[in-house]
Amino acid sequence: MKKLVSVLIAGLALLPLSTAAAAKEQADLLIRHATIVDVAGARLIADQAVATKGDVIVAVGGDAEVAKAWSAGRIIDGSQRFLIPGLWDMHVHFGGGPALVEENKALLPLYVAHGITTVRDASGDLPNDVLAWRGEIASGRLFGPTLLSSGPKIEGIKPIWKGTIETGSEADVDAAVTKLTGLGVDFVKITDSTMKPDLFLYAIRKVRAAGLRVSGHIPLALTVDQAVDAGISSIEHIGYAYKAGVKDEAAIAADFAAGRIDRAEAYRRIDAGFDPETAMAAYRKLTAKGVFVTPTLNGSRVIAYLDRDDHKSDDYLGLIGPGLRATYQWRIDRAAKADAAAIAARHAEYEHEASVLPMLQKAGVTIMAGTDAGFLNSFNYPGIALHQELGIFVDKGLTPAQALASATRAGPAWFGKLDHYGAVEAGKAADLVLLDRNPLQDIAATRAIRAVVLRGAAYDRAALDKMLADTRAKVAAWNAAAAK
Ligand SMILES: [Zn+2]
Repeated sequence: MKKLVSVLIAGLALLPLSTAAAAKEQADLLIRHATIVDVAGARLIADQAVATKGDVIVAVGGDAEVAKAWSAGRIIDGSQRFLIPGLWDMHVHFGGGPALVEENKALLPLYVAHGITTVRDASGDLPNDVLAWRGEIASGRLFGPTLLSSGPKIEGIKPIWKGTIETGSEADVDAAVTKLTGLGVDFVKITDSTMKPDLFLYAIRKVRAAGLRVSGHIPLALTVDQAVDAGISSIEHIGYAYKAGVKDEAAIAADFAAGRIDRAEAYRRIDAGFDPETAMAAYRKLTAKGVFVTPTLNGSRVIAYLDRDDHKSDDYLGLIGPGLRATYQWRIDRAAKADAAAIAARHAEYEHEASVLPMLQKAGVTIMAGTDAGFLNSFNYPGIALHQELGIFVDKGLTPAQALASATRAGPAWFGKLDHYGAVEAGKAADLVLLDRNPLQDIAATRAIRAVVLRGAAYDRAALDKMLADTRAKVAAWNAAAAK
């Protein structure tokens, strides 16, 4: 009976709105006179207003029309500014050991301050902490971007990575998939430091059969095509896409699997064996199978050019805790040992691999922007790294609109969430970034952030700067304590 009454009241309450023109609906936030960037259509829509309520966009349209129908407690002026959907970094990490939990947590506001409203955690050595943060962020107890996590990754026995689920048999894999399903992970990550190749393929099939998406590093003893046939959902790091374009990839994999060649020889043959026709055929198959690629070029670029770029005085170092900075060191030490030939080889490898990016795009592969930022990956700074990644995408041949799509639409598409994300439209998530300049003209405009709306909460430039300043102060205090 109670229910019936409330339905009646709700019905009556709606009446005045449909009859009286004067009554405005109440939104939480109104962004007025903005130019909306239609990322999918690669076009601008001028003089629009966007109303949000809770964490959802409730109205989008011509400014006068929307402003007539909606009022809001907070109004942001979007004149001369460009509104895009929130950015997604589809490959980040948290880790470095239990002593670095707080330093990792301090990375979360950096993403938001750089317009990143969702991150995909591709596993580290703090999987349980990250899964806990995911829930705390979703319920509003912790500030940060929406976190989608693989939880602990599946590995072989005694892997080089920590925080994994070790598997040496099909029964182990079955148990791992049951455990991950129980943890409610958003996808599954598999790495191959000690994973047996057959078991790797078995794990992919098993994860897919459990209804989850799966990604990972593909064992050298397998072809990329075998992982694709098994059902891998995305390929992380462009090196694997490059390898898929090597004409005798299958022979190299077989020789390596049989122990006839070592890892170094396998890579030498891969580096020398790229064939554009083979590559295009492989990429068209990725498209047909719906396999996305996360190139993570920025991390590779930083490592490749450590000889020539001095990062010692990077301003961003002031935002990274001392423990996380220390995890950068092993790659720096390794790079320092390289002679001139090794340095030249490193540059060439990066440039070769990066050059397949436009081929992937041409073949119709969905490219996801992801950075590999977090720990270990030196000077690949959470937040700004995504903007650097987009800059590289355009340098290597993508249009600004394609680059923008890789950071706003590809992630939601991969997770099957395009109905909630990826466009400034009514009914979609109130995750938005207001820019001072037009990103379709110059992709660097994604860095000119005027305001961020995260799950309906708006942060203007001053609030974003405060996030950065607060993190800087926290890091300075940690540095001082570490120096004692
Ligand atoms: Zn990674």
